[in-house]
Amino acid sequence: MSDHQMDFEIVCPNDHDQTVTFSRDEFEEVLKSGALVFHCNTCDTNWAPTHEDIAKIRTQFAKESS
Ligand SMILES: [Zn+2]
Repeated sequence: MSDHQMDFEIVCPNDHDQTVTFSRDEFEEVLKSGALVFHCNTCDTNWAPTHEDIAKIRTQFAKESS
């Protein structure tokens, strides 16, 4: 079930709500490669997730798989 996709609410540096979709494997793979960058469709900004963002996403995956 590690390829099950989940939606995550993120907020861009300019306070726009965005939703990103990852499976657990996808997320860990992108994170490991150092290429994890979020994109805001509203203000066209790219930004790297904070440690809190990453922790929050991992917590949601853990909840989902338990
Ligand atoms: Zn934005």
